[in-house]
Order: sequence, then structure tokens, then C-alpha cells
Amino acid sequence: MSTIPVMIPWLGEEEAQAAAEAVRSGWVAQGPRVAEFERAFAEYVGAPHAVAVSSCTTALHLALIGAGIGPGDEVVVPSLSFIATANAVAYLGGTPVFADVDPASGNLTAGTVEPVLTDRTKAVIAVDQGGVPVDLDALRVLVEPRGGVVVEDAACAAGALYRDRPAGGTAQIAAYSFHPRKLLTTGEGGMLTCQDGELAARLRRLREHGMSVSAADRHAAGGGASVVETYDEVGYNYRMTDIQAAIGLVQLGKLPAMVARRRELAARYRALLGPLAERMVTDPEHGSGNYQSCWLLLPEGAPDRTEVLARLAEAGVSARRGIMAAHLEAPYKGTARVPLPATELITHRSLILPLYHSLTEEQQDRVIAALREALR
Ligand SMILES: *Cc1c(COP(=O)(O)O)cnc(C)c1O
Repeated sequence: MSTIPVMIPWLGEEEAQAAAEAVRSGWVAQGPRVAEFERAFAEYVGAPHAVAVSSCTTALHLALIGAGIGPGDEVVVPSLSFIATANAVAYLGGTPVFADVDPASGNLTAGTVEPVLTDRTKAVIAVDQGGVPVDLDALRVLVEPRGGVVVEDAACAAGALYRDRPAGGTAQIAAYSFHPRKLLTTGEGGMLTCQDGELAARLRRLREHGMSVSAADRHAAGGGASVVETYDEVGYNYRMTDIQAAIGLVQLGKLPAMVARRRELAARYRALLGPLAERMVTDPEHGSGNYQSCWLLLPEGAPDRTEVLARLAEAGVSARRGIMAAHLEAPYKGTARVPLPATELITHRSLILPLYHSLTEEQQDRVIAALREALR
């Protein structure tokens, strides 16, 4: 009996062909396919600008530079997130200030952010945790009148909807991940979207060493000495390759089918899990998730989670502990300024169930039976 993993990316021959064509073209670094992927992604999320980068972590770093974050600035983040969210603030010498989350969605709310705002708050990173859209507008109404910026960490959220529009598309700045643990994957990779053209131009320069003219544009202009670039600020090498973008273009076309299948399988979990279904993450009022992570809270009186995971593993089901909490990890231990009860509840008592495009109903039935058994 083979083990059912928690996640498998949905990749196929089309992606392999697209990557091979990029290699055969001879242009493998950032070039025409990256530009095409950016246009297609911007159109998909409904944002005027998209800038492809090497990961969501680097996207968040650039987004916070764009938001003007520097030493001494405070940026409110959920502790309940992959640690990259908090780390991006630390890269710039800023202070990540942890806010608690809504226990149903795992996301920040105006009510959890308000208590940790200070005169030094420059930004809030609103995470769409597990692909559940955060109520971005409620945070913007709270933060923007105070001069702060809300950056959306939409790492998990490509394909989720916020007020009937793709998550991230309306944000001032949003950052996405294309790591294989998310839906759309390019191996490694990320994307920034934003509303402002000048900001987009600056982000493009920052991802490429601060160069005023990109290497691809210089090449297109005939190369040589006809276009001389300048370096006006310290930049980075956060470029995506054309091989990744070629894969991304195929994956973007498959994204609606990925979301539909995941939502179908999540609904089937809900229908078959009995009373446990009420403890499963669900759509918020303001949107619909892509079920990047299908998590549930273990019931009171259930065995310890480590025990549940061990029992599942024995039955050939690879579930995962729930979302991590950054304030419990070494770099941020002891820095939380307010109690984070919902964060700690979710991080200690949640379980992520296997959910992926090619999961069969038979496999899903095995997961459900194993879970029932493990909770006895
Ligand atoms: C995965 C993830 C990231 C990091 O994405 P990478 O592309 O791996 O750098 C950041 N934030 C959240 C919320 C994530 O889930």
C-alpha cells in the first residue's frame, strides 16, 4: 500500500515541452517568456503590473523596499504564517510585530491588527493563509489613513477569489509564490503585482541589480554600446529564468482546473467527515479559497497531534502539522507583544489533510477512514 502524500504538484508533458523549448531557443535567463508570463499573470489577477522574481520571499523583500521599510520601522504580520513573512521585515532592519488571527480562517482581521498598531507602524503584511482570502479592504481602511501600506502576501492564493476578483489583484502590492507546495508552480519562483507604474518600474530594476535598462531590453535594442545602463540604487539578483516562466505559462492555463478540482475534493471531505467537518477551514463571507491547505482543528479530547500524525503515517497517510507560528521559533521567540491565543491554538491543534489535483476518491476515502481510526 503506497503512502498518500499531503501534496503533489500537477505537472505534465506540456510543462516538460515548454521547458525544453525554452532550452532549445538558447534564451534561458530572464527574457521574452518572463515578459509574457508577467503579462498573462497581470491579466489573470486583474492588476495593471506584474513583475516576476525568484520566489515569494524575494518578492516580499522587494515589496517592503517599495513600501519604504527601513531600520526601526514596525511591520505588523501574522505569526501564523510561513516564517518568510516575518523574515522579509527583518531583512530590512524592521521589526515584525505579531498580531493574532481569526480562529476560523487563520487570517489577520482589523480587530486583531488594531491593538498592535503604534506610531512606528509603517506597513501590515496581510497573508491569505492556506489560500483563504484575507479581508484586505478592512485592513486598508484601518491602516491607510494612518499613512501605512498593506502588502498582501498572496503566496498561497493564486486562484483564490476576494470579492469576486482574483486575490491580490486589487492590492497596492501583492506577492505570490510558485513553490511546488502552492498550486501553480515553476519549481521556485514568485511574482509581484501592483497598481502603480513607477513602483513596478522600480521593482523591475531592483530585481536586476538596480540596472536602469534590463539585459533583455539592451539585447533587444541591438546590444553593444547603443544602450548604456546605469545603477542608481543597490539592487539584487532576484530574476526568474525563461525556463521557469515557460512552465509558469502552462501552469497558469491549468490554474482554474486546479482550483475547481481542489474545491471539489474539499467539499467531498466536508461531506464525509461527519462532525469533524465543522472544524475544517472554509470560505469566508468575502471570498472563496483555493484550498492550498485543507486544514482542520482536532477536536477537544482527541489524542495529541503527534500521536494522530503517527497513527496516520502507519495507515499510509502523510498528513502534516498545521501552519507554523513564527513567534515560537528562535529568531522571534519572546517578541510577541500581545497574547496570540488563536495562533497558538491553530499551530498546535491543526492538521493539514492530503489534497492535490490527482488525489482519487479511493485515496480520499482511505484518508478519511485513517483519520477516523486515528481519532478513536
Ligand atoms: C510559501 C510561502 C512563502 C514563501 O514562498 P517562497 O516562494 O517559497 O519564497 C511566503 N509566505 C507564505 C504565506 C507562504 O505560504
